[in-house]
Amino acid sequence: MKDHSLRLTQSRGDVISVFLDKNVAVSHGDIESEIDGKYDRVTIYRTLKSFIDKGLIHRVLDDSGATRYALCHDNCSEDSHKHNHIHFKCQKCDETTCIEHVDIPEVNLPNGFQAIESNYLVSGICKKCN
Ligand SMILES: [Zn+2]
Ligand SMILES: [Zn+2]
Ligand SMILES: [Zn+2]
Repeated sequence: MKDHSLRLTQSRGDVISVFLDKNVAVSHGDIESEIDGKYDRVTIYRTLKSFIDKGLIHRVLDDSGATRYALCHDNCSEDSHKHNHIHFKCQKCDETTCIEHVDIPEVNLPNGFQAIESNYLVSGICKKCN
């Protein structure tokens, strides 16, 4: 966390350990139930936001409508997320994971459009369930 110029507070430590434990994308609700009411929603929300800003985690959109978050493994830093990988949602276990090293296909946008963030979700049956 020092690398990302974040002071390690109790809440940050607790939230990041949920990510380290799970190794799959987690939602706000998952975090809340893992840390069992230790912090309120706002604290968790702020903690997640600071992690995104500092390049520790990124947003994972899936078809459930709930935003999930996953750890960054790509040397992301403050204000610059470097990854371009796809996400996989398993229809059996309902887990969403980062598929590192599989890039989002290049999309040719019309003139005047500038891409900032892309999300690419593949759903199916994961390795564990298959
Ligand atoms: Zn990132
Ligand atoms: Zn699965
Ligand atoms: Zn990811």
